[in-house]
Amino acid sequence: MRPLSILLASPRGFCAGVERAIQTVEESLARFGVPVFVRHQIVHNPWVVAGLAAKGAVFVEELDEVPQGAPIVFSAHGIAKSVRSEAERRRLLHIDATCPLVTKVHREVEHHAAAGRKIILIGHAGHPEVVGTMGQAPSGSVTLVQSAAEAAVMPIDESASYGLVTQTTLSVMDAEEITAILRRRISALHEPSKSDICYATTNRQRAVAAIAPRCDAVIVIGGSNSSNSRRLVEIAGDAGCRKALLIESVDGLEPLFLNGVTTLGITSGASTPEVLVIELIEHLSEHFEISVEEIAIAIEEVRFRLPFSAAKSD
Ligand code: SF4
Repeated sequence: MRPLSILLASPRGFCAGVERAIQTVEESLARFGVPVFVRHQIVHNPWVVAGLAAKGAVFVEELDEVPQGAPIVFSAHGIAKSVRSEAERRRLLHIDATCPLVTKVHREVEHHAAAGRKIILIGHAGHPEVVGTMGQAPSGSVTLVQSAAEAAVMPIDESASYGLVTQTTLSVMDAEEITAILRRRISALHEPSKSDICYATTNRQRAVAAIAPRCDAVIVIGGSNSSNSRRLVEIAGDAGCRKALLIESVDGLEPLFLNGVTTLGITSGASTPEVLVIELIEHLSEHFEISVEEIAIAIEEVRFRLPFSAAKSD
């Protein structure tokens, strides 16, 4: 067997918001019994979703799929105000697993709307977090900006004041580039006092950027629809690694990907359980003489309380 050096980025994997969301579904199953409905994938990871489904969670996209009075958990990505109103109208027992750091962005949108500001959201169209954040203010009052090119050409009302918010899982560098353009174009731009990109996204991006220049290839384990996992792939490439790959589990690894690779970086998105990283390393140890070095750029101690005091049956 030939040698393979593995550099393991740290922090990686589950963040506090994802742990809270998963525990919220598990606790709901314990309290209310089977089934507990969950609106949207609780977090963007198929392994997590399948595990909760096996325990009795039923994943739906819309509330009309949920029987009246049944328990429903809202996913970590957050929901529009209209969804909460609809849950109350249908007398669902709703439990909100929205990450508190997404809720912080929701409050900023409300604040800007109350102050009469036009609102700009930097984010990716169609992502459930973006849909939920746009749904905190009246329809049409939030403009979504997805790229530096869009920021450069969006129409600006010189007489208006603007509030700026950001999706929590963006590339820090991309968001800074877009924000710099908006600052140049808008004199009255109200930005968050602390970045909306969350600590977990920031740390995972810094960690993969720290290992990528030393690696011939980087593997990111994460859901194909996971925004923060996809950003990690881009950042590994930007940081100088010529090959970066997103896989959902070891089953997605093509053997040819490791041809010519002597140093391999591994990380995982904020919704990826550590067991998938361990499985990958065990698989590699069957084919290579591996050595593993963990490179830690931060220690995370963030924890969030479960949301049960907020559960309502209206
Ligand atoms: S990635 Fe950040 S915002 Fe999203 S759930 Fe985790 S801590 Fe919350």
